[in-house]
Amino acid sequence: MIVAKFGGSSLASGSQFQKVRDIILADSRRTLIVPSAPGKRFHDDDKVTDLLYRCHSEQGDGQSFQATFQRIRQRYFDIAMELNLSLNLEAYLDEINKNIASGASADYCASRGEYLNGLLLADYLGFAFLDAAEVILFDEKGVFDAEKTNAILSKRLEQHENVVIPGFYGSTPDGEIRVFSRGGSDITGAIVARAARAELYENWTDVSGFLMADPRIVNNPKPISHITYHEMHELCCAGATVLHEDGVYPVNRAGIPTNIRNTNLPKHPGTTITCTAVQREDFAIFAGIAGKKGFTLLVVEKEQADRTLAFVQGVLQAAKNCGLVFQYLPSGINCVCLMVDTHQLSIVEGLFQEEIQKLGIAYSLNIQRQIAGIVLVGYGIIHNRATVNRIYKILKEQGIGVVMINQGSGELSTWVGVLENEMEAAIRAIYEEFV
Ligand code: ASP
Repeated sequence: MIVAKFGGSSLASGSQFQKVRDIILADSRRTLIVPSAPGKRFHDDDKVTDLLYRCHSEQGDGQSFQATFQRIRQRYFDIAMELNLSLNLEAYLDEINKNIASGASADYCASRGEYLNGLLLADYLGFAFLDAAEVILFDEKGVFDAEKTNAILSKRLEQHENVVIPGFYGSTPDGEIRVFSRGGSDITGAIVARAARAELYENWTDVSGFLMADPRIVNNPKPISHITYHEMHELCCAGATVLHEDGVYPVNRAGIPTNIRNTNLPKHPGTTITCTAVQREDFAIFAGIAGKKGFTLLVVEKEQADRTLAFVQGVLQAAKNCGLVFQYLPSGINCVCLMVDTHQLSIVEGLFQEEIQKLGIAYSLNIQRQIAGIVLVGYGIIHNRATVNRIYKILKEQGIGVVMINQGSGELSTWVGVLENEMEAAIRAIYEEFV
């Protein structure tokens, strides 16, 4: 069977619901459905989740939240009317309104977007409704409990053939509602796919999967038909965003592929993410390229080559002591280089310098700011020689300086550091050279 998760834009209006039903009916294996809350219908529209958070903060500030709540009410009524549904929405909305007025938590408020959309979708499809609060479980501290959820959810799913489970939330042992971070319905979909041992996890959104590069930088980049979870994770680390990062682990662990599809273009095959590499038809050297600005390189050098662990350990401990997290760690024999988030560094820079001084006078710290990290990802990189040479050559021809270059130790990715203002030109040049 297939678990199909539909994002907010796929369920933003009655006409979007109709597309979703057509998709579900087109394949009888689509029996487990995970909806988001209604998203934007047009550019300046509000997402229902944002309106719900707004209700919570208006209530907290002692203002009336009724005008905002009325907009939420209207969104659901419009959908129900367009679809001719007889569900008694009024009663559900009144209860939610009452709970917000009596100080319900932000998580409870936010979760009601998915809850109501799930009720509507179940009614429209004639599927059972399974409240996520009963089967997606968090512990007392509010941490998602993957194993307990998997055990309980698997059992409950055996009782239903066709079921709608709202995304984004679950509950703690004392019955409090908890939500995942924003975009968290992706996570619910993956959890349900794992528990159901689904053959496929479909994630329906408003784009036809991943592109090999950001279309704001590269003109008309090619789509990615297949990519592995590992490759995708590397791309996400360098700024590419389509899927919630935590929505990857449950399905990757369970060996279930994810297919990103476009609700508005259902015939497009989208991108399939698999656990192991498949031969790409259009075998390119890399699967994708992404870039992210806002990095600083902290280069800590020792006068003499030092192969003892103490040097590396000392530098990492210095970073740890000031709560500094590294994004990447390209290092040499007498040099450890931390690529860190510039904003994060600005808060603890003085402290880090002190920590490095404490290591002893033989260490020097060189700080290179305004760095962008570009990552080329793909198993094809190891099958081709001289990839790095070609990158150097093409960037030199464009007059772009390379601040750092590093072929990932897993040989899955190559990181290239350039100055921030040269990032777009560098990505274009590399894409054109290889694709
Ligand atoms: N509705 C939630 C949000 O807007 C969760 C989701 O859409 O996945 O973040």
